[in-house]
Amino acid sequence: MRLDQLTFDNSFTRDLPADSSDENRPRQVSGAAYSRVSPTPTEHPALIAYSPEVLAMLDLDIDALDDTFTQALSGNRVLDGMDTHAMAYAGHQFGNFAGQLGDGRAITLAEVVTTEHGRQTLQLKGAGPTPYSRTADGLAVLRSSIREFLCSEAMYHLGVPTTRALSLCLTGDKVMRDMFYDGRPALEPSAVVCRVAPSFIRFGNFELFGWRQELDNLRTLADYTIRTHFPELGEPSPEVYAAWFHEIARRAADMVIHWQRVGFVHGVMNTDNMSIHGLTIDYGPYGWLEDYDPGWTPNTTDNQMKRYRYGAQPAICQWNLTQLANAIYPLIEDVEPLQAGLEGYVERFNEERPRMMAAKLGLADFDPNDSHDYGLVERLTDLLPAIETDMTLFFRGLASVPGATSDEDALLAPVLDAYYSPDELSGDHRAATLAWLRDYSARAARDGRADADRAVAMDAVNPLYVLRNYLAQLAIDASEQGDHAMITDLLDTLRTPYAEQPRREAFAEKRPEWARTRAGCSMLSCSS
Ligand code: AMP
Ligand code: MG
Repeated sequence: MRLDQLTFDNSFTRDLPADSSDENRPRQVSGAAYSRVSPTPTEHPALIAYSPEVLAMLDLDIDALDDTFTQALSGNRVLDGMDTHAMAYAGHQFGNFAGQLGDGRAITLAEVVTTEHGRQTLQLKGAGPTPYSRTADGLAVLRSSIREFLCSEAMYHLGVPTTRALSLCLTGDKVMRDMFYDGRPALEPSAVVCRVAPSFIRFGNFELFGWRQELDNLRTLADYTIRTHFPELGEPSPEVYAAWFHEIARRAADMVIHWQRVGFVHGVMNTDNMSIHGLTIDYGPYGWLEDYDPGWTPNTTDNQMKRYRYGAQPAICQWNLTQLANAIYPLIEDVEPLQAGLEGYVERFNEERPRMMAAKLGLADFDPNDSHDYGLVERLTDLLPAIETDMTLFFRGLASVPGATSDEDALLAPVLDAYYSPDELSGDHRAATLAWLRDYSARAARDGRADADRAVAMDAVNPLYVLRNYLAQLAIDASEQGDHAMITDLLDTLRTPYAEQPRREAFAEKRPEWARTRAGCSMLSCSS
């Protein structure tokens, strides 16, 4: 089917209260879950990348990539049946309540009810101002759009719950950005991503009504969300609200464990960036761990506190869930079930995290209550940050460490490539690393699986290809010069991140020296 042949639905705007004003200027909006707004037309829209899997998910075929597709997904044409709008939400940013935020540069087009994947919402990011744009322009630069497009799809193929990206369009327009916040703004190409998810409802949508004391709207939104997106929980009631919160907490735990598994750092885990579905959402100043450093965040806006560093992500998820619990408390008027939901998060995390680490180590009969097994994981996560060690290559290499050996060369050779400065692997650190590898090799042998079988199992959870920060930047550099091929090349590679791809070894290489300090590679700022 082509895009204009789809039947669009608009349950969000049909079932929830609309802003009574249609004035598109920054303002406070009360008593409403959204404001109707039209995308801003652009100069010369051009489709530069799309996801074949999302196309198929929406029951679209390759013929759908026509002019209508480009026009509609760059904000130039609103198709019949679309009720375009921006959502109202609030949120806690960096630990503080920030009041009304809302879709400042996102405009939802419509929902599509698919045969296999249920309800999917299409939303443009960077399609112009809305009543929630505050002091900004509602536009997105090409570099951040490429990053959102590629990372959404990379995460999906890694098996991490995420919003998806259907398309990436250049607008043909330029926007002014002060990329380094140093008073040297420059014109940059702007772009629009069409992202896709069951819904884009965030924790912040509930916080808005809690804060404004609009309890009817709070209930209407919760009931809508449960009936539309969590129907298996039953008709809304205080018990069902509690069960729903429990489910949101479970999904959040699973999501963050996946992040830890693949070395993803979200960068801005504000409550307005937390999906009610447990999906990774709002790809901004995210980054991928290259050298394993639990204290690392790519977000320069968070340089001082490092609130959203890799190692803090699980605790931040819990903190964010607490904010959601506070927001929906009036629906239940009982602390206990919400407290139980929060404890459910901790339990789920404490159960699944060791399972995830055991899978990364390829140990089938791992016992987290056994001090040896537990210690094996803890010793490793202490060793890795001591010298610069590439997380992805280390775990990938570990799969080739033979069982039941104490031979130094046999133990070290498979992981050597993971070290940024192999010379640093000396003295005490070398001794501790070898001691760990020896214990690991003995433990792997005791696990009873053949080395080759262990390697296959490990390679299914330890990716070889992740969206390394410098790779995204190389694709951006070329695209800004008009050559968009690397975006598709990277996307193709990241579609099978666990499989060795002979002609694509370059995309598995650790960060080159030039990328260590280059902006966009190791440092990014919040919104751009
Ligand atoms: P973020 O840090 O991207 O999650 O954005 C936080 C808030 O700022 C959200 O309400 C965004 O919609 C808004 N925002 C970010 N960038 C822009 C922009 N270029 N124009 C308008 N609003 C924006
Ligand atoms: Mg956001």
